Amino acid sequence: MSEQWLFTIAFFAWLVGAAAFVLGLHLMNSPASARKGNQLSASGMAVAIFTTLAYYALRGEGLSIEAWVIIIVGLVIGGGLGLVMAKRVKMTAMPQLVSLFNAVGGGAAALIAIFDYMHVAGTEKETLSTAVFVVLGVVIGCITFTGSIVASGKLQGLISGAPIKVPGGQMTTVALGLITAVGTIILILSAYGAPLEGIGTGVKLGILLAITIAGCVFGITMVLPIGGADMPVVISLLNSFTGTAAAMSGFVLNNPVLIIAGALVGASGGILTKLMADAMNRSIMNIMVGGFGGGDAAAGAGAAAGGGGSVREVGVDDAAIQMAYAQKVIVVPGYGLAVAQAQHAVRELAEILEARGVEVSYAIHPVAGRMPGHMNVLLAEANVPYPQLKEMEEINPEFSRADVALVVGANDVTNPAARSNPASPIYGMPILDVDQAKSVVVIKRSMGRGYAGIDNELYTDPKTGMLFADAKAGLESLAAAVKAL
Ligand code: NDP
Repeated sequence: MSEQWLFTIAFFAWLVGAAAFVLGLHLMNSPASARKGNQLSASGMAVAIFTTLAYYALRGEGLSIEAWVIIIVGLVIGGGLGLVMAKRVKMTAMPQLVSLFNAVGGGAAALIAIFDYMHVAGTEKETLSTAVFVVLGVVIGCITFTGSIVASGKLQGLISGAPIKVPGGQMTTVALGLITAVGTIILILSAYGAPLEGIGTGVKLGILLAITIAGCVFGITMVLPIGGADMPVVISLLNSFTGTAAAMSGFVLNNPVLIIAGALVGASGGILTKLMADAMNRSIMNIMVGGFGGGDAAAGAGAAAGGGGSVREVGVDDAAIQMAYAQKVIVVPGYGLAVAQAQHAVRELAEILEARGVEVSYAIHPVAGRMPGHMNVLLAEANVPYPQLKEMEEINPEFSRADVALVVGANDVTNPAARSNPASPIYGMPILDVDQAKSVVVIKRSMGRGYAGIDNELYTDPKTGMLFADAKAGLESLAAAVKAL
């Protein structure tokens, strides 16, 4: 088969892979089809990998035996590790795993770009476009690599979650930025021709080394000062960087599927970052320069979160009676439900209530938990029927008709201060209007604060009863009490 035909066939197979990514992403729009979307995207990736390997195997010059050994060993080790990690990870540790995967993606993109530059520098292949994509690939890839490792370490507790000051502060960051920018400009201009075309290959590689080191250190100094609680947003941003770096590699390697996949990850990561920031009523810039990121630390301290008013405790039996004789109950899940892995317990309680004729639905806040879609994923895992999951805009008007709002480990996303207190750090953040329900039962372990580290007036509202318990244990005893009625 001629070289031309081989490339045409490979090109179409890559397009099929790319189409699978796009369709897969589209299916992730709804929890009902998200699993299929994931499978379709994974099949697209399998097609892309297989086509690439077959293309190089069938081309006249082919790949050397050493190259095949490296590829197969890499696939087995990388694929095996990925499989084991993804299977073992707890849902609450998913953000740090995603961050590690980002680091690997960014590092790979940087390595490809460095390798390519080493081969084209000083030859006629060193064109302006190669230089632009290679250098940008190195810079973005290096920042993503180290930045993602630091972000993952912060979430895992290996690095302090508190904002860490970098020696030299802003000056260090500016100096690193300058080294990177000046190095990038020199390499691009030297590829363009006059006036820098006389620079020797050795000098160019030295500049690339300086850019690589500066990019890696910049990734660390960028993420260290950001509080651990803001890491999910940072991870989403770095995820977008990984996609952009991969797209750059796609241009360098002239591989359409890499360009499309990279662009999709880059764009969707960017949109997601913006949505997360909007749902917290903060700007991305505000998060990057540090804000109230120490929220989790404040929560850990277990500070009183009631804001001074008196708190009414409710017993399991009383709460069970309230719910068993209600017409409409809205469950409001939050981070505590994820920590306690109480998704099955909440579904079982809902089924017992439904068997008694109670209408049950779930109010899903876009940033409940610690990652986008956290509650959807958990409740889907417990086989909660999708039609019962209601987005914030849909469920908010229904709270005033609910007899009981059952809040399970949710805090900030129910805090009325977001609507009423302009001095509150979460003022303006859209919340679930739980306080509009006829009565409220809150299951949490203590008066500990949530992510934002602030008081919640809902707990001192006279119609709120606090049921202090671990979410899973509390729901199980509620279910037993309702059953016994
Ligand atoms: P919060 O973090 O506000 O509150 C969680 C509550 O769960 C705590 O007050 C804690 O209280 C309770 N809790 C912890 N463990 C348990 C347990 N085992 N059993 C019962 N309760 C428990 O959670 P929300 O979901 O309401 O809000 C999410 C927050 O995270 C928002 O501020 C959001 O902006 C932020 N965020 C979300 C992101 C996302 O993508 N989803 C990304 C970044 C930030 P106690 O200790 O008393 O039990």
